[in-house]
Amino acid sequence: MADYVLTPPPVPAVPVAGGGLFPVRRVYCVGRNYAEHAKEMGFTGREDPFFFCKPADALVPVADGETGTIPYPPRTSNLHYEMELVVAIGKGGRDIPVEQADDHVWGYALGLDMTRRDLQGEAKKLGRPWEVGKGFDKSAPIGPIHRRSATGVLEKGAIWLDVNGQRKQSSDISQMIWNIPESIAYLSGLFELQPGDLIFTGTPEGVGPVVAGDLMVGGVDGLGQLKVRIAP
Ligand code: MN
Repeated sequence: MADYVLTPPPVPAVPVAGGGLFPVRRVYCVGRNYAEHAKEMGFTGREDPFFFCKPADALVPVADGETGTIPYPPRTSNLHYEMELVVAIGKGGRDIPVEQADDHVWGYALGLDMTRRDLQGEAKKLGRPWEVGKGFDKSAPIGPIHRRSATGVLEKGAIWLDVNGQRKQSSDISQMIWNIPESIAYLSGLFELQPGDLIFTGTPEGVGPVVAGDLMVGGVDGLGQLKVRIAP
């Protein structure tokens, strides 16, 4: 027995499609990774990729076929959805070459990078960190992780999100500015990746607000659907 003075918090984990639990170490997120979304946020061009993190315990796993619920978070009046493809890292490494990056991918999942856009905007304006806008409690709903051995390497396929049955986001993961191997390679130059890391790979255009009671349903070809309601 270790001599902990408090009960250690549980290890965050995401269910795997077909059984098992994927233990999560870190949650990295790629910013502005689809050209049309970069434009709607006021940027253009292929700047170097940039990253932020969410706490691993901000994940809200949602089982296939079920509808998860998250509360409308405090201190915001502009909560936004960002539908994203999530990559689960199974093999760590640093300075991973682009050509070998797919070998480090254990699987893929659907994720929502929920954002307090007003707080993020204020942080940007003041040159402050993004945590309050991005890393709040329950800010990262996620579906089951699908093994790469079952899906194959994902390079193209529709990514979409409906809110209350209306299509809001619709693109293709091939439209990423920095594709998955490039993002892994770049990120692994900044941080040593470890098994259990997740990477939210960025959202396409069409982000917008949700309010209490709204139902978000999103997908990426081959990964089913992620359904999340904002608590009424
Ligand atoms: Mn995002």
